[in-house]
Amino acid sequence: MKKNKTYYIITIGCQMNKSDSERIAGYLEDNGFALASSEIKANLVVLTTCGVRQSAEDRVYGFVGKIKKQNPKAKIILTGCLSDRQDVRKRLGEQVDVWLNINDLPKLMSKLFGERKKNKPTSYLKIKPKYNSKISAFVPIGNGCDNFCAYCVVPYARGREIYRPAQEILKEVKDLVAKGCKEIVLIAQNVNSYVDVLKSTGSSRRRSAPPQDDRGIINFSKLLKKVNDVPGNFWIRFATSHPKDMSDELIKTIANCQKVCQHIHLPAQAGDDKILSAMNRKYTAAHYKNLIKKIRKAMPEAAITTDIIVGFPGETKKQFSNTIKLFKEIKFDMAYIAQYSPRFGTAAFKLKDNVSREEKKRREEELMKILRKTALENNKKYLGKTTEVLVSGESKKREQYGYTKTNKNVKIKMSNVKSGEFVKVKITKVEDFGMEGERVA
Ligand code: SAH
Ligand code: SF4
Repeated sequence: MKKNKTYYIITIGCQMNKSDSERIAGYLEDNGFALASSEIKANLVVLTTCGVRQSAEDRVYGFVGKIKKQNPKAKIILTGCLSDRQDVRKRLGEQVDVWLNINDLPKLMSKLFGERKKNKPTSYLKIKPKYNSKISAFVPIGNGCDNFCAYCVVPYARGREIYRPAQEILKEVKDLVAKGCKEIVLIAQNVNSYVDVLKSTGSSRRRSAPPQDDRGIINFSKLLKKVNDVPGNFWIRFATSHPKDMSDELIKTIANCQKVCQHIHLPAQAGDDKILSAMNRKYTAAHYKNLIKKIRKAMPEAAITTDIIVGFPGETKKQFSNTIKLFKEIKFDMAYIAQYSPRFGTAAFKLKDNVSREEKKRREEELMKILRKTALENNKKYLGKTTEVLVSGESKKREQYGYTKTNKNVKIKMSNVKSGEFVKVKITKVEDFGMEGERVA
């Protein structure tokens, strides 16, 4: 088959999907493809899909329909969370040309054109990405999840946990920093389970966080220290942490590593023990609250953010009131609140989705109201203070924007700063999810 050499990628979903799309772009450009201006103009359209909620899945059906109508000759490659779902394959059938499990990315050319290439990388994570931003880069440290939370499709979609060797991660970080990158975001489904595949006992897969007295094994804390030791002026972020695996060692490391941002994203999912147990989260609300206590003791300035699901099957009003309590007690800086969406193949799919849509919406709004209050209260502490900001871009009105180490969005008034610069900003105004200030240095 003759190659038509333009591509376009549509990405839906999380940071991991965005990062995967960067590797797909790198792979395609390495194979002679050039970026087209839209999915309607491209010869090859890649859909990096998300299956976490039904709404994300529905967007994929919409895109496939649009491409088939407006660009019928394009080849469609579907990857991400939906690529191995039999029901999705049945529904889209012939409309999709290649169903690509992301781990098979190195074989995409042979799937498309029957080509065989020498020296193919064994793991897709070894493929050189085409980064979307020069300032901030996602660096995957692994892929997959072994946790099987009852509501979640990710372990089925991405398979078991596989981690990258630390030396490969460090090389990617060093190369990025040398090119002027100012922020490294280490990503995996559960970063706390990281273990260096070369230093471990031969298996790259773990069911729980590696032990702390580990005869030289590089766990996530040690990896963070090594990334922190890479010379250069840059920030380090990471996501996502699982509360069951957040160790004292990790909290201490985050507090002691100067480049690591004091922003902890720790998904709670619920504040009620019965619901947490039904979700198979393997911790209690008390454990979660205790972790936050330890984090705040080690880092009083740290921003705490979370993910929550409202209306899990059987969640009573009383049980939901424990999530309200959690919100009032922790005083989150940000929360991603999702209404429970049944996912085919998961353990919770067998349970009756018995909280009505209206009630889920009501619960979401109730939490949002508390969140807006606590976020505003937290932001008030910044008023009149000077804080470091990484400039990320300019708005249409030529206003400059950036964010703090605690991940607060900042509008920088009347200033001539460049994207990628670290500047000192005196905060003059705060809102719930953003603030404003003037450059002082
Ligand atoms: N690995 C991460 C999150 C991955 S999925 C973690 O453990 O936290 C991202 C978020 O989507 C989850 O934190 C959860 O809040 C939400 N989510 C996952 N499955 C869902 C479902 N079936 N319905 C609603 N929200 C869901
Ligand atoms: Fe899904 Fe739970 Fe794994 Fe996160 S830890 S990806 S919520 S199964």
